[in-house]
Amino acid sequence: MAAYKAVMTFRLPPLPTIRDIIKIYRLRALRQLSQNFLLDERVIERIVKAAGRIKDGYVCEVGPGPGGITRSILGRDPKHVIVIEKDRRFIPALELLSDATDGAVDIIIGDVLSYNMSQSFPQEYKKPWDAPPPNIHLIGNLPFSVSTPLIIKWLQAISLRENAWVYGRTKMTLTFQKEVAERMTAPIMSPQRCRLSVMCQNWCKVHHKFTISGSAFVPKPDVDVGVVHFVPLINPIIPLPFKLVEKVLLNIFSFRQKYSIRGAEMLFPAGKRVEFGQEMYRRADVDPTTRPYQLTVEEYGRLCYAYKDICDRDPRLYKYNHRGSKIDRENYDDGSEGDTDVER
Ligand code: SAM
Repeated sequence: MAAYKAVMTFRLPPLPTIRDIIKIYRLRALRQLSQNFLLDERVIERIVKAAGRIKDGYVCEVGPGPGGITRSILGRDPKHVIVIEKDRRFIPALELLSDATDGAVDIIIGDVLSYNMSQSFPQEYKKPWDAPPPNIHLIGNLPFSVSTPLIIKWLQAISLRENAWVYGRTKMTLTFQKEVAERMTAPIMSPQRCRLSVMCQNWCKVHHKFTISGSAFVPKPDVDVGVVHFVPLINPIIPLPFKLVEKVLLNIFSFRQKYSIRGAEMLFPAGKRVEFGQEMYRRADVDPTTRPYQLTVEEYGRLCYAYKDICDRDPRLYKYNHRGSKIDRENYDDGSEGDTDVER
């Protein structure tokens, strides 16, 4: 804590505390936007420390709010910080930080879910994909309703090396509801293992760094919070298109407690389910009586390849979605080719 203050005064001129900023600018947390502010400096320090060494790097902080985490980031001497905030009420508090650092903080008012960072950092920060990650860091304490769709979106961007991943294997440090953090890192056989575990672990090395008690936030959320660090893998375990992997996992995990083949069969139209389901498991050399949480990422990989082989024989199968509209389902039977909803 003392070190935090020493560094902060070195880098930033004296500023009102975050608590005062909230009072001065009347930044009441809006429950309808799931806003919970972190005011405990030690907890904030731990989050930023979990991101690794950011000195001289570029940091993009998502959902900075009144700027508690932003201050701690600045205390670690990055070259530049970009903050993306949706709520305009925080502009004066964030401008205070930008002014205090001679413009080292860029404020972007917008939705992180639609923000593309492919042009946000200098070219000289780019690293080849198979080199160590670039000195670019994504950090954020977002509402849970945003952080989970965001990581799915970012995993897809990682698979395509788009957005912040045109710069190499950019690392992320994000907060989630504790249960979601546990699911993301859940190993095989764990009761928490789900589609999200396999998706995260297929494209990233995922580490649940620590848990923050809900009481560290104002107002206090009903749940505890997990801080998760992601480093994209050089080679995903299943090197297939994101949408294809997602579709196979979505179907198999839709019957969590049943034999995994039950969900896999739903990938195919009613008349072909048993035949193609069995073929998929035979080709993949996976025991059809395993439950979804008992399969490794590699086994899911073999199932995805087997699904792809079956669909390549009749590409209309790619489009089949048993949850889709009646028209979607009938498209398979009426002989129309149509576009596939899974990129191959
Ligand atoms: N990071 C601050 C902290 O730890 O005290 C604020 C945390 S609060 C849980 C989440 C912040 O994310 C709020 O400032 C909210 O306005 C912002 N936010 C919510 N949805 C967002 C989105 N889609 N894009 C950018 N910011 C968002």
